[in-house]
Amino acid sequence: MKKPPAVRPGDEVTVIGHVFETPLVVRGRTWLPVAQFGAWGIMAWLAGKRRPQRTWGQRLWVGLMTMAVALGSEWLHNLAHAVAAHLIGKPMDALRITWGMPLVVYYDLNDQDVTPREHIVRALGGPLFNAALLIPLVGLRCAARDGTAAREVLDMAVGANVFLSTVSMLPMPGIDGGAALKWALVADGRSVPQADEAVRRVNRWMGVALSVAGAVAFWKRKRIIGGVLALCGAMASAIGHGLIEE
Ligand SMILES: [Zn+2]
Repeated sequence: MKKPPAVRPGDEVTVIGHVFETPLVVRGRTWLPVAQFGAWGIMAWLAGKRRPQRTWGQRLWVGLMTMAVALGSEWLHNLAHAVAAHLIGKPMDALRITWGMPLVVYYDLNDQDVTPREHIVRALGGPLFNAALLIPLVGLRCAARDGTAAREVLDMAVGANVFLSTVSMLPMPGIDGGAALKWALVADGRSVPQADEAVRRVNRWMGVALSVAGAVAFWKRKRIIGGVLALCGAMASAIGHGLIEE
């Protein structure tokens, strides 16, 4: 199975603006902010579950704020990729908004006009920005009193940025860590096909390691972490065995 590209060259898209030289594009109505409304509903429900004494208004307000920091962190991650690409003079081909969320578009993943080092800089821009954001966020979180809505929102902000600076660095093709590893191998003298094969080999082993870690997490009743690890493990195994291609 090959992951379909978010936009192909020549696809009919509407350019709604530019960010850091990158065209911001949409296709039909697929830009509608479904992710925002869906996440708002889930987070309002969770806000009520955490504190059942909350009124409906309070649940909606806390849900709105936690949704905004979670999805906003993902937006900032992608905009940081655009900034990194802009700074080295190799802007991304497009940033497509799908269901309210951004998708980074590079038409040619093995673009020969982009050096291995530049590929790495573009890939690291997003995760490094989220890691840098953690410094003020952790400080603010420590300052917020336990049990307040501000603390809940900051817990989400810290969690989202930890996730975006770590999970995105897993060495999987299609995410930042995979691109960084591949181009580091190419910079080290390997051909692109050799680097792709080496990344697949890493994924075969990582699939086993993450699945074991997921099982341990479930056994220790850490269901959310266990679920994320199991999902990443299954993805890595599928990539490692060539079932999913970038
Ligand atoms: Zn990224």
